[in-house]
Amino acid sequence: MLTTSTVPFVDLSIAHQPIQAELDAAIAQVLRQGDFIMGKALAEFEAAFAQACQTQLAVGVACGTDAIALGLKACGIQPGDEILLPANTFIATLIGVLHAGATPVLVDCAPDTALIDLNAAKAAITSKTRAIVPVHLYGQMVSPQALLELAQAHSLLIFEDAAQAHLAQRDGYTAGSVGTAAAFSFYPSKNLGAFGDGGIVCTAQAEVAAKMRSLRNYGAPRKYYHTELGTNSRLDTLQAAILNVKLPHLNAWNQSRNQAAQHYDSGLAAFGDRGIVPIQNRSGTGHVYHLYVIRVLDDCPINRDTLQQKLEEQGIQTGIHYPIPCHLQPAYQNLGFKAGDFPQAEQLCQQILSLPMFPGITLQQIQQAIAAIGLAIGEN
Ligand SMILES: *Cc1c(COP(=O)(O)O)cnc(C)c1O
Repeated sequence: MLTTSTVPFVDLSIAHQPIQAELDAAIAQVLRQGDFIMGKALAEFEAAFAQACQTQLAVGVACGTDAIALGLKACGIQPGDEILLPANTFIATLIGVLHAGATPVLVDCAPDTALIDLNAAKAAITSKTRAIVPVHLYGQMVSPQALLELAQAHSLLIFEDAAQAHLAQRDGYTAGSVGTAAAFSFYPSKNLGAFGDGGIVCTAQAEVAAKMRSLRNYGAPRKYYHTELGTNSRLDTLQAAILNVKLPHLNAWNQSRNQAAQHYDSGLAAFGDRGIVPIQNRSGTGHVYHLYVIRVLDDCPINRDTLQQKLEEQGIQTGIHYPIPCHLQPAYQNLGFKAGDFPQAEQLCQQILSLPMFPGITLQQIQQAIAAIGLAIGEN
């Protein structure tokens, strides 16, 4: 048998290679100008990103976690306010809510999409509920229509965690334009990634953006004049310059991911009766597939961990996003949740497996991954 090469989980070099010269020039330009903190490229990127997200304003910060924490504060969230968020998300969603001083109220998910279950969210509303933080998990938006209806009916503020959903669309909305504000991350492997940490808050409201600019810059609306307890959390000019080069390519990269997902969907369809089922796409080409995630159901001949190990043996790198739900993490036992509280999220953690996905992944690599899954589950 021919030895085939490893299929990496992520390979950023495919996207970066064709724009290497532009990236080098952008970096050199910042070095020449020396405006490393809140320089020209930052203002340019903030304007361009807001426009790409179909919203008005954007304020760059040091990372996505800060974007959530500071963004919620900028929206007026106060200690004691209850905020709804999914139990199955990257821990940073919860960390952001806690750093904003709010009381997190975790909510179960819909097993087929892995997105927050809005009926469960509705059932968790109390007189103290101020906001909902929908996470557009894996690159698929939580239904904007359903979100807006729920928020209107219960006077909730919507703050989107769009860290995995740059330029995702659904029902005619772009991620980041549904709620009062939204947080994005530019962690290197996100759909739009910097060469280090970065984040941004998008909003259509001038007051929220103004408050963000103060909070990220020592609570100073103008230099050396401090009106509130802020922090130091800015998106570096250097990172903004890199993101300015990358942003015009984002749509094509997302399309490449969506196409790869369609190849996975059709190749994996044959394994449906063996318990291999992809997380469902309800937004067609609007899904930007930060991750391509399958579920290994109980009727599959092998469990998820065995499948992951057998794929590793065949050179297919995979990931698990995420193996432990937020409420079962040791650090958050004091929040008052326990095992069994969110059965769908808990079960999903045991079933999910993320397959190789990045812009430029080849059809051959996808077919290699699908064939390896077939071999592992005895379908060949
Ligand atoms: C990446 C991510 C974050 C946090 O972003 P950082 O830039 O790593 O701080 C928040 N929420 C979700 C869903 C993420 O995937």
